[in-house]
Amino acid sequence: MSLAPIITVQNLHKSYGSFEAVKGISFEVHQGEIFGLLGPNGAGKSTTLEIIETLRPKTSGEIWVNGVNLDTDPEEIKKFIGVQLQTSGFYPNLNLTELIQLFVGLYQTKVDPIQLLKKVNLEDKAKSKFKELSGGQKQRFSIATTLINQPKIIFLDEPTTGLDPQARRNLWDLIKEIREAGTTVIITTHYMDEAEILCDRVAIVDAGKIIAINSPNQLIDELVATGFEKEKEIKKANLEDVFIQLTGKEWRAE
Ligand code: ADP
Ligand code: MG
Repeated sequence: MSLAPIITVQNLHKSYGSFEAVKGISFEVHQGEIFGLLGPNGAGKSTTLEIIETLRPKTSGEIWVNGVNLDTDPEEIKKFIGVQLQTSGFYPNLNLTELIQLFVGLYQTKVDPIQLLKKVNLEDKAKSKFKELSGGQKQRFSIATTLINQPKIIFLDEPTTGLDPQARRNLWDLIKEIREAGTTVIITTHYMDEAEILCDRVAIVDAGKIIAINSPNQLIDELVATGFEKEKEIKKANLEDVFIQLTGKEWRAE
């Protein structure tokens, strides 16, 4: 993994009226990493992502994406980022192939819908409508749409919220594959096991400020070094392991 920053955020502030949602945060995302933004509801994660995605104006601060300054050339930034579209934009009566064709037209690029659906293991749903998909399949399709313009960076805001454990794991595999193909991934999640497994580095955001930023391993080691101990001894497996053992199959039809 290269350590060159592909995103630099410096002293970002965002106010909604008199309420300051983002209070001067700075961080870098390295090229080729999976970077997690963690934090309680209302911490300012989505606001931060949407500002970097050029979808929301900032109050102050400086942002560079792949060397391009956000204030100077937001249109250029849009060309090499992939953003999950609101699922409300997925016309209910079009099938997945038709939806991809529609988005491909918007991006003015050329993509084979079946190839794209294969990447997210939905090729057998090519003729299904979006509304006919399971929760996990919907998320995979939504991630596929972020890949249409062959982006350098994709932004995933809580992609696994509400999914069952197996669908979550399928999505982890997909996100890892996307990264293996060279795409930088920024993700938000409320699942700490997921962040630990997926993310090279995480920033923990609380009330509009970054209160910690490091690899999950380093953060855990720092906590242990303070003398922290878990209250009860951990068993070698947990209930989620039981669930996956009993119900889980690779790419189980969700
Ligand atoms: P997170 O994604 O971490 O849950 P958000 O970025 O969505 O947090 O929101 C951060 C804070 O900003 C919250 O207190 C939220 O209520 C507020 N907020 C978000 N969007 C708006 C908006 N359009 N207008 C006013 N307040 C907003
Ligand atoms: Mg959010």
